[in-house]
Amino acid sequence: MDNLKVHTSSPEQTMELAERLGQFLEAGSVITLEGDLGAGKTHFTKGLAKGLGVKRNVNSPTFTIIKEYQGRMPLYHMDVYRVCEADEDLGFDEYFYGEGVTVVEWASLIKEQLPKERLDIEIYHAGDDRREIVLKPLGERYILLCKELQTK
Ligand code: ADP
Ligand code: MG
Repeated sequence: MDNLKVHTSSPEQTMELAERLGQFLEAGSVITLEGDLGAGKTHFTKGLAKGLGVKRNVNSPTFTIIKEYQGRMPLYHMDVYRVCEADEDLGFDEYFYGEGVTVVEWASLIKEQLPKERLDIEIYHAGDDRREIVLKPLGERYILLCKELQTK
């Protein structure tokens, strides 16, 4: 399947899209988020957390690399911006193949360590509060996920 492109024009719309995605996710799902500073990666994660039933407020894990939240399953929120070396292995696999959903901001910094099957998401500034959100499914499970997101 081709990439799925969605435009949003407010932080709320981005969070709504992510919330819908969060409702479809299963244990072991891996989502990567790429985009400039202020693109909306953390806002996307906030919406996704809501869709997973997380009640706590999600904020950027700036001083820790991984933050864990509990919803209908765990959410592992990683911001690997501070991982200095690309081959630094912090035991990521335990999260990727674990009982929860993993969201990775700045994932390209650890691309060698990412699972092959995952949903890559890129967020681009498109003027003022507009953003272009491109979802790139890698693997059957994520292709189905994008189809669901498109139709509902
Ligand atoms: P990142 O984690 O990518 O650095 P944040 O989610 O922390 O970005 O911040 C995104 C900023 O952009 C917030 O201040 C948010 O209010 C603003 N914003 C404006 N329009 C949008 C939009 N359509 N989607 C997401 N965020 C938006
Ligand atoms: Mg962020």
